[in-house]
Amino acid sequence: MLSIKNLHASIEGKEILKGINLEVKPGEVHAIMGPNGSGKSTLASVLAGREEYEVTAGEVTYMGQDLLDLAPEERAREGVFLAFQYPVEIPGVSTTNFLKTALNEVREHKGLEPLDAVSFLTMMKEKMKLVEIDQTLLSRSLNEGFSGGEKKRNEVFQMAMLEPKLSILDETDSGLDIDALRIVANGVNKLKTNDNATIVVTHYQRLLDYIVPDYVHVLYKGKIVKSGSKELALELEEKGYDWIKEEADTTT
Ligand code: ADP
Ligand code: MG
Ligand code: MG
Repeated sequence: MLSIKNLHASIEGKEILKGINLEVKPGEVHAIMGPNGSGKSTLASVLAGREEYEVTAGEVTYMGQDLLDLAPEERAREGVFLAFQYPVEIPGVSTTNFLKTALNEVREHKGLEPLDAVSFLTMMKEKMKLVEIDQTLLSRSLNEGFSGGEKKRNEVFQMAMLEPKLSILDETDSGLDIDALRIVANGVNKLKTNDNATIVVTHYQRLLDYIVPDYVHVLYKGKIVKSGSKELALELEEKGYDWIKEEADTTT
């Protein structure tokens, strides 16, 4: 589904990603961990196509296409979903209307008719139940005045509605209460199928108590310096990142 080869990327002339290699197959959940400033959010942003980042070398193939060649909207239409670390606020546009537009764009791209009002509502109700989101949150302006937890819930709801092939979740390093964390994780687990894949970016092991990854990768100084199974995440929780840093720094 996703193949990243020797990816290098810079921001404002400073190289942040220094040769990333990663293969993601349908049905897999990959966790990207690593100390602060190692380039995790940069990787997520480059995959989503955010313009501030310049790709200087390497390639990214998604479903047989050159992902880097697609504009951010095209990536979204092709089924790539990035839950933003800092979601945009759209005053005056409710989540419901935002989603109706986004969903119908995806459908149009697949050659499907737009959903009629009744089918859309039925789908909303079904997915609301799935990710345990409140009706009132959906009628408010998108993300305006939302708490951190509400934004996360909303992102998971958007994921449920848009049914992306590849979801990239960049967890904020700050203050998600344990209930919000559990709701996000449950949502992700329930949305998992054999056809979609998820990349979870996280600084702390905490989230991985609820989302069980198939693979864990440690990013350090712009490179994946270690990959393993979910046990690696537990080891990091116990021992921190210093041993990884030492290992990586002595081999480079
Ligand atoms: P992580 O998500 O792993 O904490 P980031 O990808 O956010 O790491 O950041 C990686 C590095 O890139 C850091 O050194 C950070 O200071 C730098 N960086 C990120 N965004 C910018 C920017 N807009 N301008 C300059 N440097 C940036
Ligand atoms: Mg950071
Ligand atoms: Mg980050």
